[in-house]
Amino acid sequence: MAIVHELSWSTSRARTFDSCRRKYYYDYYLSWLGWGRNADPERRSAYLLKKMTRMPMFAGDIVHRAIERYYSRRDQGQSFTADEAIDWAVTELRRGYKESRDGGWKARPAKSIRLGEHHYGEARIDEPSGEAGKYGKRYVDRIKECLMTFFQAPELKGVREVEPGDWLACEEMSTFELFDTKIFAIPDFAYVDRRAGAASGDSEDGAPAVRIVDWKTGAPREADRFQLEVYAFYARERWKVDPLRTTAVDAYLGDGSLSEVQITDEVLSGALARIESSLTEMKAVHFDADASKGDPEAFPMVPEAEAPRACSSCGYRELCDRV
Ligand code: SF4
Repeated sequence: MAIVHELSWSTSRARTFDSCRRKYYYDYYLSWLGWGRNADPERRSAYLLKKMTRMPMFAGDIVHRAIERYYSRRDQGQSFTADEAIDWAVTELRRGYKESRDGGWKARPAKSIRLGEHHYGEARIDEPSGEAGKYGKRYVDRIKECLMTFFQAPELKGVREVEPGDWLACEEMSTFELFDTKIFAIPDFAYVDRRAGAASGDSEDGAPAVRIVDWKTGAPREADRFQLEVYAFYARERWKVDPLRTTAVDAYLGDGSLSEVQITDEVLSGALARIESSLTEMKAVHFDADASKGDPEAFPMVPEAEAPRACSSCGYRELCDRV
């Protein structure tokens, strides 16, 4: 069945929409249909740039996959120690770095690692000067730090030791509907919360409470909380649980801090209004990318004055002439 271009919504899509409309256009419209080798050259170029990542994201993704492996091994009755996880993760970082540097990504762009730092020849990734070594070490250290937090933080003991029978999701991408639109959500880990008095107290009908955890490898952002609020709707649709019996928490693995959202009626109505407002703005500029490439001018670039901050790590710099 052919995939059809349609408007969907996610917190990351909303973030891109708010940060740069032109980036949003490249991500969700121009790159559409660019996956075929014989695709329209502009679509192909945007698609290949969209598939690029950067070291902070790549390192963060590896941490997520290492934690996913931990749960997968547990599910099979096997262990995956902190040392094994760190070895696996650092090897994966080095493998991806080489795949990007040596052009190995070209054979399978959608499944490979291609770093924006290499594509744009950034000074931070220059090997002869030693800068690349320093830059790479920063992410090796971050991976170690995050995984040690996951495996050792007393605050995460309960999450590490949840019985597999109580797991609900682990890096599961799923969709649900709000305002007649498909909403994407990928909670990192969700489980039946059996702590005494969990989530608004013991329920009279014995319905389970649900706890959702997102692993964060960077600094806290305002958008993190909104993402947790959206998960409450996901929990309602996916597991038919009362959102008021859902707690969601961001676990910042860099420093071990936790930021928890207790879902209330007020939180839900605020999140719903924010999603509706975001969708209304997106609908106003939406067009069918199967039928045309649209008009990029309808999606303004960030102003020149903001470019040093906004564009310096964007993968689309060459399309915007902001290299
Ligand atoms: S280079 Fe700048 S203006 Fe262009 S898409 Fe990226 S952030 Fe937007």
